[in-house]
Amino acid sequence: MVVVKYPVKCVLCEQPVEIEGFSTDTPQGRLAFCCAGCQSIYQLIYMNKPKAETEHKTINKKEDN
Ligand SMILES: [Zn+2]
Repeated sequence: MVVVKYPVKCVLCEQPVEIEGFSTDTPQGRLAFCCAGCQSIYQLIYMNKPKAETEHKTINKKEDN
C-alpha cells in the first residue's frame, strides 16, 4: 500500500502547507494555513463575529396586574 499525502493548500494564499499546526476549526470544517500570518489574517477577515446577537435576551417578566 502506498500512502499518498495530498498536498494541502493554504486557505488564504493557496501555497502548499508544509507544517501542520496552523489549522483552524470552523463551522465549515478544518482549514489549514501555511503560516501563522495567514491564519490570523483569515480569522480577522472571516471569523470576526462580535458576541452581540446571543446576548439579546431581555427577560421582561413583570406582573402588571
Ligand atoms: Zn498562506
